[in-house]
Amino acid sequence: NVGQITADMIDMLSKKAFPLCMQSLHVSLRQSHHLKHGGRQQYGLFLKGIGLSLEEAMKFWRIEFCKLIDVDKFDKQYSYNIRHNYGKEGKRADYTPYSCMKIIMSNAPGPGDSHGCPFKHIDQDLLKQRLKTMNIGDQYLDKIVSEVKTGRYNVACTRYFEATHKLPLEYQAQAISHPNQYFEESQRASN
Ligand code: SF4
Repeated sequence: NVGQITADMIDMLSKKAFPLCMQSLHVSLRQSHHLKHGGRQQYGLFLKGIGLSLEEAMKFWRIEFCKLIDVDKFDKQYSYNIRHNYGKEGKRADYTPYSCMKIIMSNAPGPGDSHGCPFKHIDQDLLKQRLKTMNIGDQYLDKIVSEVKTGRYNVACTRYFEATHKLPLEYQAQAISHPNQYFEESQRASN
């Protein structure tokens, strides 16, 4: 049930219910106890979209960042932006999570960045290796790679969804166009 997602559920959810872009951000956050601005925005708004409340979001980011920095520094440097994303600061706009189109077409990640779409922004050989280590079957892998080659990144993501949810290839009639759609479809497929 969305709306009841808590900070301590995210590790578990990220493994299957998150698209590869958000999984990568999660792993990167856990490994380096930090994410640069682009990653915090892409991931933070996605988490808001799956139903993580402002209070839980604050807890989630604080616990991880404070493995490296002290709470004071966290509150000064990062908490404003988190509240801002929830419409509690500045213009009080309610910011919406990024669509695949936005992630794929704008703000390409530079060195040290973890945001972006892995199907678009990761070197194709590396992506293939990574998918192999995740035990994506050959049949799916071939499809994913060929979609990536023709620039249909979100279609590649849809085939990845099928592979990781034990669905037949091309089972999903509608291509993934939003990371939060991916999450919702994953919840449905698992119920
Ligand atoms: Fe994320 Fe969309 Fe790329 Fe899938 S296609 S990895 S949901 S940005």
